[in-house]
Amino acid sequence: AKPAEPAKAKVLKAGADAAFAPFEFQDEKTKEYTGFDIDLIKAIGKQMGVEVEVQNINFDGLIPALEAGNIDVLISGMTITEERTKKVNFSKPYYRSGLSMVVKSDNNTLKSFKDLEGKNIAVQIGTTGANEAKKIKDAKVREFNNAPEAFMELKAGGVDAVVNDLPVNEYYIAKTGSKDAKIVGEPLNAEEYGIATAKKNTELAEKINKALEELKKNGEYEKIYMKWFGK
Ligand code: GLN
Repeated sequence: AKPAEPAKAKVLKAGADAAFAPFEFQDEKTKEYTGFDIDLIKAIGKQMGVEVEVQNINFDGLIPALEAGNIDVLISGMTITEERTKKVNFSKPYYRSGLSMVVKSDNNTLKSFKDLEGKNIAVQIGTTGANEAKKIKDAKVREFNNAPEAFMELKAGGVDAVVNDLPVNEYYIAKTGSKDAKIVGEPLNAEEYGIATAKKNTELAEKINKALEELKKNGEYEKIYMKWFGK
């Protein structure tokens, strides 16, 4: 008979596209993954009694990684959509978001989404922002691997606007200052983020919902929220 395996701490493998501050990004000094989503999934793991290990995966590779079983869970500012719900299970919504547009600070002609007709727009590939931008009449949509690359293209003058999640746009402008870019107009829509698990892993989905509910009750969610979004 084989000797018994030593007991190992259970690990929850979480995937995130760590280029989406303040939800998930790499701390410049420590090189650790950090952000609202990272703190939240770690708190959920703690609640469940498991260790959380974060893997950095490109946004459009996250659902495939979940389907392939390379990760157990994904948390990446991912909007709950009908199309994605066909492929994964989403937790109860954990954050209210929406899309907004960013233009150069000195641009005084683009004031709202309706001004984007026929314009050049940068988006992140595989996102709700990309989908919505493609619906704008005659717009030329250029897809980048992540949000920072889309912002860089705006700064370089290669596009007229970036369409991306409002809280990420706000954080970007707060960090870089108002000299380069500004948010204009009203948010285009309302979206909600969810934590995704594989379709077949309903047990894990339930545990995550339970942990999330507990963190909302015991004030931990509020603490994490205030750390990243409190003024
Ligand atoms: N919320 C958007 C989406 O789900 C963007 C997410 C992201 O870029 N991390 O498509």
